Amino acid sequence: MSSSEFSVIDEFFTRNFSQGLSPALGIGDDCAVLDVPKGKQLAVSTDTLLEGVHFLPNSDPQLLGHKVLAVNLSDLAAVGATPVWASLAITLPVIDKVWLSKFSQGFFELAEKYALQLVGGDTTCGPLSITVTIMGLLPQGMRLTRAGARPGDSIYVSNTVGNAGLGLEKAKAACTDIVDEALVAYLSPNPRIELGCKLLGLASSCIDISDGLSADLNHILKASGVGATVSHESLPLTQAVRKHMAQDADWLWPYSTGDDYELCFTVPLDVNLDGLKGELGESITKIGVIEEEKGLRIQTKDGEQIILNKGYDHFNDKWNAYI
Ligand SMILES: [Mg+2]
Repeated sequence: MSSSEFSVIDEFFTRNFSQGLSPALGIGDDCAVLDVPKGKQLAVSTDTLLEGVHFLPNSDPQLLGHKVLAVNLSDLAAVGATPVWASLAITLPVIDKVWLSKFSQGFFELAEKYALQLVGGDTTCGPLSITVTIMGLLPQGMRLTRAGARPGDSIYVSNTVGNAGLGLEKAKAACTDIVDEALVAYLSPNPRIELGCKLLGLASSCIDISDGLSADLNHILKASGVGATVSHESLPLTQAVRKHMAQDADWLWPYSTGDDYELCFTVPLDVNLDGLKGELGESITKIGVIEEEKGLRIQTKDGEQIILNKGYDHFNDKWNAYI
């Protein structure tokens, strides 16, 4: 570690937390050492965000600090884990103290919301890239996976879909309206940690929607060895997304857009979610049913059925098959 690297971690990423689970050994040594409480299991996930690939060049550093942690927290939500620790590796073209101060502010504001402690870090020089390894706790033997969906299960999504995709279009068009709902959904996603935890023991499968509803639901279908029919009319969409679909005459659009970081999950028919709905701060909507017949079918209100076993790869501008 060079002296400049050390001062970046020291100045911007070392905080004293009053909340959360302190590491046995944290930032400042060669490794962090962590005690996993008795009766718990550790859930671990890593995500990298690369400038020009996962976020637009010259993105607001405070929003980026929030987003890089939010997308990792979303993976913990998908397995039902409670966040506890994270490590952060950041590659910077230059050491810009104003940028670093704003980035760390966005990162720690979200970390503190979940009493998450940063236990390690690394900084290097190069094109802007940020990697977070996130760690959460699960009750021993309990977890949500992609593989448990069974024929007859109901399929749900949280909040709305397609909103962040619309926000990306607006960000690309250099929209900076900080009250635009779609732009905020794209720049500052809300990981569904509370919902994921409450689904433990209720949901038969779960995934977070990062690559688009069709791509991510197809991951559940493939892992579970089942198929599904989604009722198009039941998709929870904002007015802005409906307007965008009508303008482009593209009603398949919300199935292909990513970055929503909502949860898509399945629940056996005999599980009652009424109590859960009352406790949650966000809505959940039933959108379809798991079936034995493989593949993802979209049912329109005219009775037309579209097979959608693909996700749209926006980076390469093409549809990729998932099954
Ligand atoms: Mg995920």
